[in-house]
Amino acid sequence: MKAAVFLGPNKPLEVQEVPTPEPKEGEILVKVAACGICHTDMHYIDHGVPTFKKPPMILGHEPSGTVAAMGSGVTNWKEGDRVLLPAVLSCGVCHNCRIGKENICDDMVMFGNHVDGAYAEYVIAPAKDALMLPEELPLEESSIIADAISTPYHAVVNRGEVKAGYNVVVFGCGGVGINAVQVAAAAGASVIAVDVIPEKLEWAKKLGATAVINAKEVDRIDKVVKKLTGGGADVTFECIGNPKTIQQAFSCIRKGGRTVVVGYTAKTVELPAAKIMFFEQEIVGSLGCRPVDYPRIIEMARIGKISVKDLVTARFGLDEINKGFDLMREGDPNSLRSIAVP
Ligand SMILES: [Zn+2]
Ligand SMILES: [Zn+2]
Repeated sequence: MKAAVFLGPNKPLEVQEVPTPEPKEGEILVKVAACGICHTDMHYIDHGVPTFKKPPMILGHEPSGTVAAMGSGVTNWKEGDRVLLPAVLSCGVCHNCRIGKENICDDMVMFGNHVDGAYAEYVIAPAKDALMLPEELPLEESSIIADAISTPYHAVVNRGEVKAGYNVVVFGCGGVGINAVQVAAAAGASVIAVDVIPEKLEWAKKLGATAVINAKEVDRIDKVVKKLTGGGADVTFECIGNPKTIQQAFSCIRKGGRTVVVGYTAKTVELPAAKIMFFEQEIVGSLGCRPVDYPRIIEMARIGKISVKDLVTARFGLDEINKGFDLMREGDPNSLRSIAVP
């Protein structure tokens, strides 16, 4: 099969002919229809973040496709079934898995990190983890559900506990933030989107934001939010991973409000402990998504409560996959999500 192989940091992916993997017991071979091109891959390629499996290896963790072959013992799939593969697989037996927090599994396995991913014609997956994609959903574009939509879903629904009528602020309208906007809007919240790029704010409006703030144009975001919400937001989401915006997100919540940190930073962030205590304000983190949430997300997409197709703004064959990363490096304000289509 053809695969875009990661040879190590600061090298473009190289399209090579590699052996097509064979499914073992309990596994399926998936013919990849598409795989989302994600910032996480850029961290491996450009920023020296190591993959668990040493290169050469195949990146790509947002795959959709069709079942091409089954290993022994697989009874729940047949050839041709349309499937989505979650970005991260959980072990099912560690403490966190046993208490229903599979997204923070102690032994997680990520496609294109611990095992070969889906920038290839085929990928192997455990049969128990694949999810059926209904006919109504476009096979290729639905690949982005695997990470770009599932991560914000968990953040909004489980960690933010956003409910109808809540006032919500989303900081950062990139791949994750824009989907936090649309999931929160679908949940019935009034959503204020914050970014510095006007095009991203336009996208946020299209996907359900009731108000937008260009952070470059205001001095104090907390003052603007307090005015718009009558005292502060119920829940704010930081989808950038920057100490300053985490502080801003926290400064925008009302008494009893909550900030959910979805963006990653390795830096330390100072926050006012007095407000956490005296105003019962909360700050929580959010990572990935639990397996039990995928069927809900797929259903929301199926009935059109959240958009999938519109979010895919570019597609690249395997041979052109490095152009997909170039597009991300350029930071084109009109591009939301690219997919690789082997
Ligand atoms: Zn990703
Ligand atoms: Zn586990």
